[in-house]
Amino acid sequence: MSKPEGGPKRPETTVVTAGRKPFDHHGLVNPPVYHASTMLHPTLEALEKRDQRYTYGRRLTPTIEALQNAICELEGGAGTVLCPSGLQACTLALMSVASSGDHVLVTDSVYGPTRTFCDKTLARFGISTTYFDPLIGAGIERLFKSNTRAVFLESPGSLTFEIQDVPTIAATAHAANIAVILDNTWATPLFFDAFGHGADIAVIAATKYVVGHSDAMLGTVTANDKHLKRLRDTHGNLGLTVGPDDIYLGQRGLRTMAVRLKQHEANAKRLTEWLSARPEVARVLYPALPSDPGHAIWKRDFKGASGLFGVELKPCPDDAVAAMLNGMQLFGMGWSWGGYESLIVPAHINRTATKFAHQGSVIRIHAGLENADDLLADLDAGLDRLKKAA
Ligand SMILES: *Cc1c(COP(=O)(O)O)cnc(C)c1O
Repeated sequence: MSKPEGGPKRPETTVVTAGRKPFDHHGLVNPPVYHASTMLHPTLEALEKRDQRYTYGRRLTPTIEALQNAICELEGGAGTVLCPSGLQACTLALMSVASSGDHVLVTDSVYGPTRTFCDKTLARFGISTTYFDPLIGAGIERLFKSNTRAVFLESPGSLTFEIQDVPTIAATAHAANIAVILDNTWATPLFFDAFGHGADIAVIAATKYVVGHSDAMLGTVTANDKHLKRLRDTHGNLGLTVGPDDIYLGQRGLRTMAVRLKQHEANAKRLTEWLSARPEVARVLYPALPSDPGHAIWKRDFKGASGLFGVELKPCPDDAVAAMLNGMQLFGMGWSWGGYESLIVPAHINRTATKFAHQGSVIRIHAGLENADDLLADLDAGLDRLKKAA
């Protein structure tokens, strides 16, 4: 759809309109799903010139293009590529900027499998990683080496939810000509403007809030002008592509992401406030709470908070945590998140550069779209089971 006159659209509008051209498709509201590997060329000349818009199913189809365009418009980047998972999007972003002999800086609060990729696979290709305190700010400069190519941020961090000072870290990195990659899965572009705060490359595990219904794996990587060519080349050379039906699910999820996120936020707010006041709880890790150490920066930089947060329980036996989790009625136990349903899992925190101080067990909760009072009743019964087993 064309842009309405009178300036840029607001993000709630963009998620509805971006990547759609109904009158290119007989007026159909949704872009059709193209299943394709082979694209025919009308003449030998056309085949050999390779200037047809669509030449090979792996590289580009109208279905791939529709979601790429939608995400790119929402992010405000120069171009987007799609990946078969969020983890692939993280690893592709790193591979696009670092070469053999280079060094990358990665936040100690990074998503666990991204860490494993750095330690096992990047290391095997001669790229070294240093992990840093997520709260380092401008102090990151002390970790720069002559071969440092990228700083990888994730804010808030996986499991521990520290908010990073992205603009300060980005300005420091740019002064040394180092690229800034941000995993923006928790906030999505609706709640955190990655490029506006200095990212060069923004990653989303679209599996989470973009797809939003726990039924497809998908990742997106968006780059600014400076980094787009290397990103596209690396994506193409690796042979990455995503099946059309999964792309369609991502696109379908995107249309309702703004309203879903508002409800995830409202429910998480209720749950985190209620949990903060419970005697069994030591603290709640959620930057939207005024008591959270990251609250000031969150308030400065973010437009909202999503539904995922951590809870540090007061010290209690493992059996008591098990009694709580095993009897939950509405909170399922599963690792992915971002769907419409509520989830609860133990958080296994793995740090190497810093220590995450905690005495009791940490659990991670995803506030789904159920009624908040029903969720509170389920948590209330769960904490009663915990107390009885302690
Ligand atoms: C889940 C997640 C990923 C990986 O996404 P998948 O689609 O599961 O591979 C990456 N980063 C963050 C922050 C995540 O939460």
